[in-house]
Amino acid sequence: MSLDLPRYRSFLKQLVAEPSVSCAVPSWDMSNQRVIEHLANWLESLGFSCEVMPIPNHPGKFNLLATLGKGDGGLVFAGHSDTVPYDEHLWQSNPLELTEKEGRLYGLGATDMKGFFPAVLEAVKGLDARKLKQPVMLLATADEESSMSGARALAEAGGLKARYAVVGEPTGMRPIHMHKGILMESVRVKGAAGHSSNPALGNSALEAMHEVIGELIQYRHELQQRYHNPGFAVALPTLNLGCIHGGDGANRICGECELHFDLRSIPGMHNDELRAGITARLTPIAEQRQLDIVFSTLFEGVDPFYQNENSELIRTCEHLTGQSPTSVAFATEAPFFREMGLQTVVMGPGSIDQAHQSNEYIELSQIEPAVNTIRRMIEHFCLREMPSA
Ligand SMILES: [Zn+2]
Repeated sequence: MSLDLPRYRSFLKQLVAEPSVSCAVPSWDMSNQRVIEHLANWLESLGFSCEVMPIPNHPGKFNLLATLGKGDGGLVFAGHSDTVPYDEHLWQSNPLELTEKEGRLYGLGATDMKGFFPAVLEAVKGLDARKLKQPVMLLATADEESSMSGARALAEAGGLKARYAVVGEPTGMRPIHMHKGILMESVRVKGAAGHSSNPALGNSALEAMHEVIGELIQYRHELQQRYHNPGFAVALPTLNLGCIHGGDGANRICGECELHFDLRSIPGMHNDELRAGITARLTPIAEQRQLDIVFSTLFEGVDPFYQNENSELIRTCEHLTGQSPTSVAFATEAPFFREMGLQTVVMGPGSIDQAHQSNEYIELSQIEPAVNTIRRMIEHFCLREMPSA
């Protein structure tokens, strides 16, 4: 069936017109319900059965899982329904009104990643459920750009009954088989303030923090000795000391000091182990100096993602797109699908260069190749008789 570009445009226009910002800043955070409702309506009209999952403890946030066909070896096209916040003044057009100019569709989320869903809708139209050997599924999640609460809720609810996942983040349809993980953490040292003339009048949080920083730099060094992956532009895990706040004057013993840092891990590393490793280094400092060190997380973090290049999914994507698999520098929901046991690839139309930017757009020329690749993936994984796993 040929590509109906006006239909693609009309679907994307409606998705862009429904703001669905997710953000840790409450004044920015919005419901994604309208985006989910549009997708569910369109998919139901194509014969999909749709399940809308409210996200526990996140009122107004929903995932959508739409399924056509039966079986547990399905192919999931997954994307997030939310966007980052936007600054209207920096846009040359209304960010919530899809605007076509010079072969590009401008709008908030056009490339990251509302534009993926209408491409899947184009690819699945006319599919006959009776001919499917395995189901085709579309998953739209909440809060990918903030807490990833949608993917987490899905994992906690038991995951997905499927074998393959395509996370349609903008990669210019190049298959991505790995990315780094990320942690953002806080260390707060609580000592005791006092007059600087006598050290016995307080307990310096700043001096304890000096030791904390020394330990973190040493830990980074050890991680970099152990882990190395030349498939990344930055082959080593990194740990960046991002900001520090503490103390109130030169003649006062510093009572409190707080440090924020991030840690970007590579495949083979696990966020839980990293947090345990850091805790093990901070506890002795607190004991020895008799003060409190509170180690906490600024956001829940994402594990690194890795899918073997020789897996059937990556091989198939490589074959269909003619592009070799590579890594990216941004994090996605892909590690959640790996954790659920699915072969996973990150691959979608558009470019990450336009994501999280004012005047975000998707090139119209990207749509047809994306739709064709998605169709051929469905033929490969859902219309043929598959060997049992
Ligand atoms: Zn995205």
